[in-house]
Amino acid sequence: MTASLSIRDLTVYYKTPLGLVQVLDGLTADFDQGETVAVVGESGSGKSTMGFAITRLLPPTGVVEGSILFEGQDLVSMPQKKLRDVRGTGIFMVMQDPFSSLNPVKKVGLQLLEAVQIRMERRGEHFDYESASKEVLKRLYDVKLPDPAIIMTKYPYQLSGGQIQRVVIAMGLLLEPKIIIADEPTSALDVSIQAQVIALLKELQQQYGMTLIFITHDLAVANVVSDKVLILYAGRLMEFGDKRDIIQKPMHPYTQGLLKSFPSGSYREKELYSLPGMPPSFFSLPVGCKFSDRCPYAFDRCFKEEPGILDVEGRTVRCFLYGGARKNRVA
Ligand code: SF4
Repeated sequence: MTASLSIRDLTVYYKTPLGLVQVLDGLTADFDQGETVAVVGESGSGKSTMGFAITRLLPPTGVVEGSILFEGQDLVSMPQKKLRDVRGTGIFMVMQDPFSSLNPVKKVGLQLLEAVQIRMERRGEHFDYESASKEVLKRLYDVKLPDPAIIMTKYPYQLSGGQIQRVVIAMGLLLEPKIIIADEPTSALDVSIQAQVIALLKELQQQYGMTLIFITHDLAVANVVSDKVLILYAGRLMEFGDKRDIIQKPMHPYTQGLLKSFPSGSYREKELYSLPGMPPSFFSLPVGCKFSDRCPYAFDRCFKEEPGILDVEGRTVRCFLYGGARKNRVA
C-alpha cells in the first residue's frame, strides 16, 4: 500500500516564558492511503499537537522539526501560500469544537458553496452555482442531515453541535481531501450523537477511500473506527501497529493499562482498572522511560535510560521488555 503521509522524526517545541518545551519527540510513522489510524493517548500526550503540526496550524509559539511528506512534498518546509492550497483540498481537519470551523456570521449553505468554489478554483475548473448547490445538498444528505435545503439557510448558531459537526464533515467531503484528521470530533457532542458521528466518519472514509487519522483518548472508539492504532505518551510513540494485534495482544505496558481501563476491552480484568498516577508534565519529564513512574514492570534501567523504537512481531514498540533487552517479557 502507498503511504499517503510519511512522518519522519517529527519534533515539536513550544516557546514558553520558561524556555522551549518539547511536546512531540521524534515521531516517525507512515499513514497508508485509504486506511484509518487511531492516535490514542491520555490528555497531554501530544495527540492534538501532532494533528496541528501536520496541518501546520500550530500557534505561533510552536517550532517544528523533522519532515511530513504529503504527495512527495515536505509540509514542514512548505511556504504558507502553498500550504493554504494543501489545507482543505489535500488535508482537512475536523476540530474538537465544530463551531470553530465555521464563520458564525455566514449562512451554512454559503460556506459550503465556498468550499466547492475553493476546490474548483484550485483545480482550474469552472464554478457553476446551480451544480455546486446540487453538490452541497447531496453532501448534506450524505452526512445524514434532515432537510438539507433548510439547513443551508441557517446560521451556525441555529444548529445543534451534532448538526454542526455533520456540516463540517460535509465541508470536508466537498473539498475532496486525501486525508481527514479528526481531532476528538465527538468530545463536544451529546453521548447519544457521538456514536452516530463516529459511524458516519468511518462510513464516508470507506466510501471515498480517504485516509482518516482519528485522534481520541478512548481505545474503545479506536477499536470501532480504526485499521491501525498509534499510542502516544508524553509526546513519544509507544506502540504502533494493526488494530487487531494491539487490541488483542498489547505489548507496551501503557497500552495494556489503557485497555484494562475501559469496560468493553478484551484485555480486561474482572474489576475495572485505573491507570495509577497522571501523565508527566512536559516541564518535568522522568529521566529514563517516560512511563517509568506508572509502569508495573519498571526495572533499574527504565529509570536511567530511555528505550528506543523497536520493530517487534510486525509492530513498533518502545519498551525495554522487548527486543532481548530483558528476558522476562510481559505475556
Ligand atoms: Fe515499563 Fe521499562 Fe518498558 Fe518503560 S521501558 S514501559 S518503564 S518496562
